[in-house]
Amino acid sequence: MNFNKSKILFEEAKKFIPGGVNSPVRAFRSVSVDPPFIMKGKGSKIYDVDGNEYIDYIGSWGPLILGHAHDKVVEALKEVIDMGTSYGAPTEIETRLAKLVCEAVPSVEMIRMVNSGTEATMSALRLARGYTGRKMIVKFEGNYHGHSDSLLIKAGSGALTHGVPDSPGVPIEIAKNTITAGYNDIDGIKKIFETYGEEIAGVIIEPIAGNMGVVPATQEFMDTLRKITNEYGALLIIDEVMTGFRVSYHCAQSLYKIEPDITTFGKIIGGGLPVGAYGGKKEIMEKISPVGPVYQAGTLSGNPLAMTAGYVTLKILKDNPEIYDDLEKKSKKLSDGFKENAEKLGIKASFNRVGSMLCMFFTDKAVVDFKSAMTSDTNKFSLYFEEMLKQGIYLAPSQFEAAFVSAAHSQEDIEKTIQANYNALKKIV
Ligand code: PMP
Repeated sequence: MNFNKSKILFEEAKKFIPGGVNSPVRAFRSVSVDPPFIMKGKGSKIYDVDGNEYIDYIGSWGPLILGHAHDKVVEALKEVIDMGTSYGAPTEIETRLAKLVCEAVPSVEMIRMVNSGTEATMSALRLARGYTGRKMIVKFEGNYHGHSDSLLIKAGSGALTHGVPDSPGVPIEIAKNTITAGYNDIDGIKKIFETYGEEIAGVIIEPIAGNMGVVPATQEFMDTLRKITNEYGALLIIDEVMTGFRVSYHCAQSLYKIEPDITTFGKIIGGGLPVGAYGGKKEIMEKISPVGPVYQAGTLSGNPLAMTAGYVTLKILKDNPEIYDDLEKKSKKLSDGFKENAEKLGIKASFNRVGSMLCMFFTDKAVVDFKSAMTSDTNKFSLYFEEMLKQGIYLAPSQFEAAFVSAAHSQEDIEKTIQANYNALKKIV
């Protein structure tokens, strides 16, 4: 494999874009290879500018549950684009997508579209604060909810990978209104509520954390959050930016049988175009401008291209529920294959998976929270990552990210990946 053209493009990019990338993890800095520059994607594969082919397990960091350039999504986009790209005025497709999400997720009676997951969670916090008249927010260690000031505190994902879970530039006056609690720590959250309960506007959680590897919340923990927020009049915000329509068509909250007050979405509901959204009970959502006083707006929000890609994607998922069974089978096969390889080779590893989100941690500890995730050997992960890339397997370049299986991955892709995993692990024993 050669990366000559990618290297040239990366050098050029670094002259004009900080780190050469528009989002940090893409720079591959936590591993010691430069990022391939991607030219196109189709199905489960992506292709770089040097002509290398990869089986892709990033899927644009989660949105591409149907794979790259799905025929129906592309066809619909082509039709829409001929009529214009954005009007900043209401269109029918916005309501069609909103309705589809509300029908799939009973706790969401109304929804507002924005342009990214960051915007969704940021706006959800403002709504929670505006609705309750309180200012404190609780988030969990290692959870990532985008990069707004209130949430860039003990954050996961790129912030964690690059060692800046608490970023300079977030004023202390803002940070002090965010309380960080231990993930899956029931006693911890109870103590926080005993002390600050009356001041807490909302608790935000990744129900299946995908930004410190993959770490699901326990049922008991989620039940505790629902109960305690109700008791104290705080709102429960479930951040389904990653899990929404990924782990089930009815999202992670259906697996836990919990109805949050606000849900945030992103990724899949945009079908690969920039979309985020936040929704909840009508009574809460009607506090948002122009009906209510909580202000939030967006020039490109609900633009026809993004709404179309999202609508077509969700409609395919709705009409073909067997996709989720198939994702479960393929992902289980992949994770079991990795586990078997590690056992055969005597590699210390721990495996977490929920549906098509999975992670292999280089630790022998069970990973249940931030602390246990941190016991992973990140040097080993880097070596592993490089060996996988060399074999044409494109994983997230960090131990603390999820791998995503898509509907487009074939049995052959899965088998090839298991074999590549064996070869890679063998090199690093
Ligand atoms: N919430 C979660 C759970 C996420 O995984 C992410 C992004 N990975 C975000 C919020 C932020 O979304 P975006 O990158 O679209 O701003």
